[in-house]
Parts: sequence; structure tokens; C-alpha cells
Amino acid sequence: MIGNTIKSFMCKRNYGIRSYINEADLPPSKRKRFENLPVRSKKNKTEMNNDLTEPKLLGVSLMDYFSIEQLKNHIRNLRSTETMSERSVTNNVCQLCSMDSLDFVPTPIHCSSCYKCIKRNLIYYWAVDESDRRHCYCNNCFRKCSDDDNVLGKNKFQKAKNNYRNEEPWVQCDKCECWQHQVCGLYNANEDLEGQAKYICPFCRLKEIEAGEHKPLPVSIGAQHLPRTMLSDHIEQRLFRRLELDRNERAKYDDEVPAAADLTVRVVLSVNRNLKLNQQFLDIFQNDEYPPEFQYKSKLILLFQKIGGVDVCLFGMYVQEFGSECASPNRRCVYISYLDSINYFTPDVRTVKGETLRTFVYHEILIGYMDYCKKRGFTACYLWACPSLKGEDYIFYCHPKSQKTPKPEKLRLWYKSMLRKASEEGIVVNHTNLYDQFFGPSTRNSAAHLPYFNGDYWSGAAEEIIRNIEKENRADKAKKLMTKSSLKAIGNDNVYADATKDILVMQKLGQTILPVKKEFIVVNLRFVCINCQQVIVSERRWSCKQCKSFHICNKCVALQKTHRSSSGDEHLLSEIVMEEDDIPVSTEDQDAIIENDIFENRHSVLSFCEKNHYQFDSLRRAKHSSMMILYHLYKNIHLSFEKEHFEGHGALKVKLMGALVHASQCCATLSNHCSFSGCIKVRQLFQHVSRCSHRVAGGCALCRKIWSLLHWHSQTCRDTSCIVPRCKDIKKHGVAYS
Ligand SMILES: [Zn+2]
Ligand SMILES: [Zn+2]
Ligand SMILES: [Zn+2]
Ligand SMILES: [Zn+2]
Ligand SMILES: [Zn+2]
Ligand SMILES: [Zn+2]
Ligand SMILES: [Zn+2]
Ligand SMILES: [Zn+2]
Repeated sequence: MIGNTIKSFMCKRNYGIRSYINEADLPPSKRKRFENLPVRSKKNKTEMNNDLTEPKLLGVSLMDYFSIEQLKNHIRNLRSTETMSERSVTNNVCQLCSMDSLDFVPTPIHCSSCYKCIKRNLIYYWAVDESDRRHCYCNNCFRKCSDDDNVLGKNKFQKAKNNYRNEEPWVQCDKCECWQHQVCGLYNANEDLEGQAKYICPFCRLKEIEAGEHKPLPVSIGAQHLPRTMLSDHIEQRLFRRLELDRNERAKYDDEVPAAADLTVRVVLSVNRNLKLNQQFLDIFQNDEYPPEFQYKSKLILLFQKIGGVDVCLFGMYVQEFGSECASPNRRCVYISYLDSINYFTPDVRTVKGETLRTFVYHEILIGYMDYCKKRGFTACYLWACPSLKGEDYIFYCHPKSQKTPKPEKLRLWYKSMLRKASEEGIVVNHTNLYDQFFGPSTRNSAAHLPYFNGDYWSGAAEEIIRNIEKENRADKAKKLMTKSSLKAIGNDNVYADATKDILVMQKLGQTILPVKKEFIVVNLRFVCINCQQVIVSERRWSCKQCKSFHICNKCVALQKTHRSSSGDEHLLSEIVMEEDDIPVSTEDQDAIIENDIFENRHSVLSFCEKNHYQFDSLRRAKHSSMMILYHLYKNIHLSFEKEHFEGHGALKVKLMGALVHASQCCATLSNHCSFSGCIKVRQLFQHVSRCSHRVAGGCALCRKIWSLLHWHSQTCRDTSCIVPRCKDIKKHGVAYS
């Protein structure tokens, strides 16, 4: 049991007990390091736990669930090209990947004074205050500051060099006592904080299974057990349909047609948010033309693919939905705020049309999302095609080095080809850009028409412009800048003196956006009248055959049914009877509210992953990181419903949902339990139902809890031979109260 004691020490160390280790503190080899560690005797351990039976904790490694084939596959993958070149010759290496100690990306240290990142290998000073907060100063700031500037006093600070390493933690096999990286062993240290779980390496597991000593554990909690929503179902089903179509097409030309398998789309965040606008921004407008705040729904959609038995998170998309209850101009708009991906998608093949299957899948998720939005009554979708800066992550922490950030032009074309497909299907009626839609000569220019999104470019730029205008105003230069002729030049003949701020902002904003206007994509899901800017809801519209996207509503069309083009020619308009479906009155769907602290916004994801070293820069790390993220998702996701008729189900911990499927198959008992989180809880609930003596209708509170769990499960279960108790009955009859 020595191995376990050490393991627990190592886990804890790697989760924060000694997080400020300097390189000099680390002995040269890991073998030597372990000799220095305290070894607790078995007696001490049992005394501590006050428990004489050794619990058999299983399932701390995902490999406990693997079949022979999956284990072999896992070993093979770790030995593949990725690691071959760096294979070490010493014995002091991981039995799985053949590599010596590996370092995580160093956590950046920021100076508490100048907020700059302290560079690697530079000297800095640090101290911890009474409330355990760590203060760091760069060399420069520390020398400049006096004792009075510093709450702690300069003498409390220690000098250090920013060269500490975050070494990947190790785990020892309880059978052969070989050492492996926790990442390679798909080991979940959070499930084993006491260090009492059994870790059996894949080599020993293979022997055990072959000798009949181990049966792979039933289904692990994977991405497919995360709660499904109408949105995730819509995207997923569409994606699978489209993949099938493409595969059938490819089969006409090829004998071997590798398919994209084991994909899962889930919504892991869906919450109501309030977006309060800056007063400074609102001051541009007269007479409350612009609402001071917007309600919206913030969602995160994730794509997983099972690669080598592990669900790997490959694609993520944050969206903001401003529904029908929102005030203009945000009403019925969606904003795709962040999109990120990791390029481990398999197989690496091309579709019939010649694009990579990976691109095809990402496009289908976007199109599926827009299709869903359109069906729910959203009328426009806004996108800012902006590639991340080098080294900057949008959602996933630490991208693979081999994954290049696209150039702006390439990214724009990527979106364009997606929009072309969506147009062919009639989901998108047309697309333009922010400049052409709101700053063109044929529109009434006012910032009041521009929708305002959280973290969007134009709103930030506008606020910057306002700050500058205010500065200039104070210098009393405003009048000189704003001549009547310049107002006329931008197409506003009818100028009221008090509207100058709005016009000035629009003029400057237009100048800022114009050179990069193509980055700000406006996707119209319904036709918009070019005159009144309203979605055309009547059965007919008037369109120009010569001008792209010139549509005008029945109310606004001039008597002569013509319009003057930008070159001054008179164009004839033709009447078009629309075949579009009616726009739903309310955009509200009945999807659950999904709360989730970790994924609240992209910054919380990134700092969570940074803190725990959940990196995506190699496939082995992406597997382990995704496994850990799923583990935390199950612990953190909280479901609830807004609609009354769902209230009977109450707020259910999603963790129990996954545990329900697991516990139905798990061979553990109440006394001989497994470590799968929630397994015991569900087991206790089941036991209660079988013994409960409350013969009231529907059972006691506890009974109702398990019934609502079962109902909620079967509503989302697609498995026709599901082993969850009563699942088949409930699916068939709707209810199964006994
Ligand atoms: Zn390894
Ligand atoms: Zn500094
Ligand atoms: Zn072993
Ligand atoms: Zn109109
Ligand atoms: Zn025209
Ligand atoms: Zn279990
Ligand atoms: Zn009961
Ligand atoms: Zn089921």
C-alpha cells in the first residue's frame, strides 16, 4: 500500500499544498524524490479513517471501463508518432508514453502593481497577506515602491525566480508498481483524494481481463449522458442526417468510406442574463430612444467526439439570444460571440464537395443552430469573424502548436462558405455586413438601429468614440468639427441640433468599421425592409432584381414600384409572394435553464482550466482534460425549468441523471460500493422505494424524487433496450407510478 500513500501525497501536492515549488527544490529523478517522502504505515491509516474494512474504490481511471480492445488501442495511441521522437532511453520514464517528466505550461504570474505578466526566468518578489492572498511584484515595481506604498511592508517579501515548473503528476500501478503519468493513465485524482482507490495500469488490466479476474465496469459517465435539450437534439439530429447523406454520396466514388462516429452535441450552459448599458453610451440618444438594458439568454454549445474510448471536447460556441420580449433594436437577434475548436477530429477525410469533414461538421452545427433560431422566431444573426491573436485562447486552454490560427481573410471565407450552404437550404435569406446594413446611403443612420451585444466590437468602439468626443467637447472643439456640410454629406438633411452626438458617433464609427466591414457579418434569417428596418411579416415583399438584397415591405413601397439605385438609375421592383412560415410570436422554448459555474463565460472556463492544467495541446492531454471537464460538469451543472408544468420535477442534479444510468448497471452493492459519484445516492434511493411504507398517492417525498428522476431520464432516453428501471414502461405509457 506504499504506492497509494505516495499517490495521495502526490495528488495533494499537485492540487495546491505546495504550489510554489522552485526548480531547485525538485530532486533530479522521481525515484529519488519518493524516497524522501514520509511513508505512513497501514495502522495509522486505518486509525485515521476509523474504518477497518478496506473499501474497494474502482473507477478512478477511465480505463477501468475499457474493454480489451480499448485498452490495446489506448496503449497503441500513446506510443504513436506524437511521442516517438522524444522517447527517452532511461528506465525512468512513463510506462505508457515512454516519456520522462513533462511540464505543463507555466501559470502566468502577474505583477500586483503594473499588472504585467512577469517573464520566465526573471526575478520577482512575493508575499502572502493575512487573508492568504498572494502578492507579486516585478523587479521594477518592487524597487520603485517604498514601504509606505506596500500594505505588507517590503521586508515581508521573498525574492524568487520565475522558473518553477508544473510537472505532470504521476500515479503508480497497485499491481506491477510501475509509474505512469496521470494523464496517460486517464486517472482522476479528484475522485481519489484519500489515495485509497485502486489504480491498475492497462498492462495489468489486460492480463486481469484475460484471466477473468476483472470485468470492465459498466458505462462511464460520458458526454452522451449530459442532459439533452431541444436545441442540442435539433443540432445533433440534423448533423447526423447530413453526415449520413455525405457518406452515401462518398460511397458512390469510394469503396472505403470512413464515417465520423461517436459525436455528441450538448448545451452545457443556458442562463438568463441582463445586459446593462453604459450611461455614457445612452447619453448619445434623445428621448430614451435606446433601452437601458437587455435581457438575453447566454448559451454554450459543445461538440464531443469519442476518440479511443474517451470523449474529447472538440468544438465550443458561446451565443447570446435576444428574444421576442426584448426591446428594439435587439429584439429577435442572436449573436454568436465566441467559437473555438481543437483539431483532433477524426477521420481526416474530405467530403464529396471537397472540404474537410471537420469543417463540414462545424458548419453543420452553425447552420443547425441558425435553423433552430429561425424556427423559434429569431430574425437575424450577428457574427464577428475575428481570429484570435497568436497565443490567445477563446474557449479551450492551450491549443496544439500544430493548429494554426486562420488569417482574417481565410476565416471570413470559412464563414461565407457556411452561409452559402445555409442560403441554399433557405435558412438564411441573405447576408450582408454591419456597415452596408446600417451605414449605407439608403438607410436612416442612427446608432439607435444598431443592436448591442455583450462584448461586441461596435459597442466598444462607440464608447471609445464617445469618450473622445467628450474630451473634445470640453476643449470646445465640437462646433468646429461638426459643420452643416459634413452632416449633409452623410445623408442627413434634416438635422436637429440635439441629434448631433448620434450623427457624429455614427460618422466616426462608420469610418472605423469601413476598412474591415466584411468582418462584421449580419445574417438575415427573414427579409428586412430596407426602409423601415422591420422584418417583413406580411405575405408579400417588393424586391429589386438588379440590386442584391434590396427588399421593401408593402407599407413602404412607393406608388410607382420603383427605387433609385446608388448609381442614380431607376430600377423596377417586382412583387414576391413569400412562402416563409409564420414567425412565432414568442421565441421562448421550453428548454431547461442549465446553470454551470465553470462555463459561466469563456473567462471562467479558461481560468478553471489554467488553474487545473487542463490543456489541449496534445491528444493525450485533450483526452484527460476533457475527461476531467466532464467530471466537473456532472458535479456542477444544475437544471431547472421556468415553465410551471415542469415544476413537478423540481430542480434535479444532473449528476444523479448520469449516476442513474451507471447505477442501473453497476454491480456494486450498498456495502461494497464503487466510487462513481452519485452511485451510492441512487442506490439508496432505489432501496428506499422498494421498502417505503408510505402508501400515499405517488409516494413520499423521497419516492417522488426517484420517480421524477426516472421520468426525466426516460423523456430524454433514446435507448430502446435501456436497462434503467421502468424506463421502457414510462416511454410506452407516459407514467409508471405504481
Ligand atoms: Zn506518460
Ligand atoms: Zn510591475
Ligand atoms: Zn501494472
Ligand atoms: Zn418597410
Ligand atoms: Zn435596384
Ligand atoms: Zn457504481
Ligand atoms: Zn418513500
Ligand atoms: Zn432509458
